[in-house]
Amino acid sequence: MVKCAVIIVAAGRGHRFGGEIPKQYRILGGQAVLRRTLGIFCAHPSVTAVRAVIHPDDEALYKAAAEGLPLLPPVHGGETRQDSVRLGLESLKEEAPDIVLIHDGARPFVDFGVISRVIAAASNGVGAVPALPVTDTVKTAVKTADGTLKIEKTVDRSALWRVQTPQGFPYEALFKAHQQAKGRELTDDAAVAEEAGLPVILVKGAEENVKITTAEDLERAEERFASETHDVRTATGFDVHKFEEGSFVTLCNVKVPHDKGLNGHSDADVALHALTDALLGTIGSGDIGSHFPPSDDKWKGADSARFVEYAMSLIRGLGGKVLNADVTLICERPKIGAYRLQMTERLSELLNVSASRISVKATTTEKLGFTGRKEGIAAQACVTVSF
Ligand code: MG
Repeated sequence: MVKCAVIIVAAGRGHRFGGEIPKQYRILGGQAVLRRTLGIFCAHPSVTAVRAVIHPDDEALYKAAAEGLPLLPPVHGGETRQDSVRLGLESLKEEAPDIVLIHDGARPFVDFGVISRVIAAASNGVGAVPALPVTDTVKTAVKTADGTLKIEKTVDRSALWRVQTPQGFPYEALFKAHQQAKGRELTDDAAVAEEAGLPVILVKGAEENVKITTAEDLERAEERFASETHDVRTATGFDVHKFEEGSFVTLCNVKVPHDKGLNGHSDADVALHALTDALLGTIGSGDIGSHFPPSDDKWKGADSARFVEYAMSLIRGLGGKVLNADVTLICERPKIGAYRLQMTERLSELLNVSASRISVKATTTEKLGFTGRKEGIAAQACVTVSF
């Protein structure tokens, strides 16, 4: 798997914006602009690590905006955006990602499609920048003696593109390019890469991926949020684990005595795995394996509640709230009934929703199939999340 780190540049003071609070910390639809931006990258299934570069004066604002999100600790930026990016890149030396994405903290409407296209292109060893064609006619003009602007000529717009972020690059190459460019101000990271001779290609951007620069931009963004219909999403998950020797199984984070155990890399809690996949499904965030690869020894014997908590942190980062969850355990044995209340209570805690909105059910398959032969346990989960 390609190791993809993201640097969110959020150290600007926003002089064009005015007001006391930098624009990336202004509230948009009930959340700081920066929190929305961070939440999207945290939830993307191909992103390995996210780090913000912030202004030293914004520690408290950042702490509030980043609360509960799975982020690397922030680092402080420099004088210019370019300095901040370089410092961000330097801070990732130990992470040593294969590719790095640089994104403006004030672009909270970036979608998974744009991010995926940039990651796919940058994974091929080139720089990649999302862009849109220029559709307005473009003129050059000169100022005349009386101050009016006189058109000089019409520019051929077919070769002109408006570029956005995230801009993605092979990590080592961009870091080197930024070190070389130190002290010379270039307009964006693509320009830094171009100067160093790194090929940079364009991928399809999105009109919605605007940068909030002025107070009017924020107002327009607010209107957009207000006009969007209430967003409710449902997703399902399914998992199977087979029995092995043991004296208990863990289901819905509750130990249930049994004459067998469940085989698995973590604690093999088949119910929480199905539930995690359902949660990730509501935000298009891949599956449990993309966030917690079984190849990683870190998750050996892990308490599967951590997987649910992680998925919940991503959902919260996007402003989501679980409305209900329904889990079905499929097995002949053990009998679940005596543990149902305890399981419901535990899921209620993990999902931060009233126990009356949690359902844990069990069924057999009439002695048919692998569950009927008592070879293992299957579980399915369905959750609904409102955003
Ligand atoms: Mg599993």
